[in-house]
Amino acid sequence: MSLPEFKLLCPRTIAEAVELLGRHAPGVQVIAGGTDLIPSMRQKLFTPPYVLDIRGIAELRGIRAVGGQGVEIGALTSLTAIENSKLLREQYPVLAEAAATVASPLLRNMGTLGGNICLDTRCLWYNQSLTWRKSCGFCIKKDGDLCHVAPGGTKCWAAFSGDTPPALLCLEAEVEVASARGTRRVPLTDFYTNVGDARMKLEKDELLTRVFLPESAAGWRGVYRKLRMRGSIDYPLAGVAVALRKSNGRVEGARVAITAVNPAPLLVQGAEQALQGREVDEESAAAVGDLCARVAKPLTTSALTPEYRREMIRVFAGRAVLAAAGKS
Ligand SMILES: Cc1cc2nc3c(=O)[nH]c(=O)nc-3n(C[C@H](O)[C@H](O)[C@H](O)COP(=O)(O)OP(=O)(O)OC[C@H]3O[C@@H](n4cnc5c(N)ncnc54)[C@H](O)[C@@H]3O)c2cc1C
Ligand code: SF4
Repeated sequence: MSLPEFKLLCPRTIAEAVELLGRHAPGVQVIAGGTDLIPSMRQKLFTPPYVLDIRGIAELRGIRAVGGQGVEIGALTSLTAIENSKLLREQYPVLAEAAATVASPLLRNMGTLGGNICLDTRCLWYNQSLTWRKSCGFCIKKDGDLCHVAPGGTKCWAAFSGDTPPALLCLEAEVEVASARGTRRVPLTDFYTNVGDARMKLEKDELLTRVFLPESAAGWRGVYRKLRMRGSIDYPLAGVAVALRKSNGRVEGARVAITAVNPAPLLVQGAEQALQGREVDEESAAAVGDLCARVAKPLTTSALTPEYRREMIRVFAGRAVLAAAGKS
């Protein structure tokens, strides 16, 4: 499948990038590692007249400790750099662990944190060639007006399938968004919409520039568990991140987030209350599993049945809580 024709823009600074985005929006699309965008462009899911390649912007790369205020990570930082960062492995292990499960080593060398956060939602009826989609009459997410997954509805349920955002939600991360109008800082909990065809609150002229991890989340134990078809390379079909802090054997703080079973990665409400002040055991871990299974709304957007994926969210959440508490 060939790429559609486009003009490539190659800014060297953030200021230059946002000026170009402002000038060409909405007919411009950002490319970082290109590991998701290029296959999608070949399938004609995106045919932007302009593509803005941000790989030449050095100020978008790097992992930096900011004295007493946590860590900031440039959006263009590769997933390999995150996986291998001593600082992140020691202080924010859930993020390093989640990054290490993305795709394959080659894709993690190319793929970036910003691209993973802004990853398009996925669906069996959408991530297909133009000919394939045309033969099915298209769908709401692209060129059509019906949903094959939830016929009769008007909402797109394509699943958010990134691995690092649930880990970032557990760490109470914030993202910085820049445009020619200035910069804004947004908690990741407010960044996603849970709507498959309009997944995030990012305008076409905006660039995600940095990710902030607060000092208050440093040192929390973390675990990420994921269900996929092929352990060596696949997108998650269900994923659970857990971050937990203990004192004298009891849980002082806990956060749990899920991915790949809704149109957005979601922080699971009530998980902290189920664990706080307790020693983690099979019963409390199972209670968190039940909460996660209740929030998960897997549909037939992905391989494997929704029932199996929901059940695996329950199982993985329980196991992840036990592992994060050092009980398995
Ligand atoms: C075979 C295969 C397996 C994969 N498996 C996984 C997996 O297991 N888990 C997983 O999470 N992902 C997986 N991916 C998807 C992808 O490799 C990763 O999500 C990667 O992190 C995407 O980053 P990127 O820099 O390549 O993004 P790109 O492909 O460059 O961009 C992805 C999207 O983000 C937007 N974007 C990128 N950077 C910015 C920015 N700074 N500001 C605004 N918008 C931006 C782009 O416009 C585009 O819409 C897989 C891909 C392939 C091909
Ligand atoms: S959930 Fe429905 S509208 Fe969305 S991509 Fe799948 S088939 Fe299309």
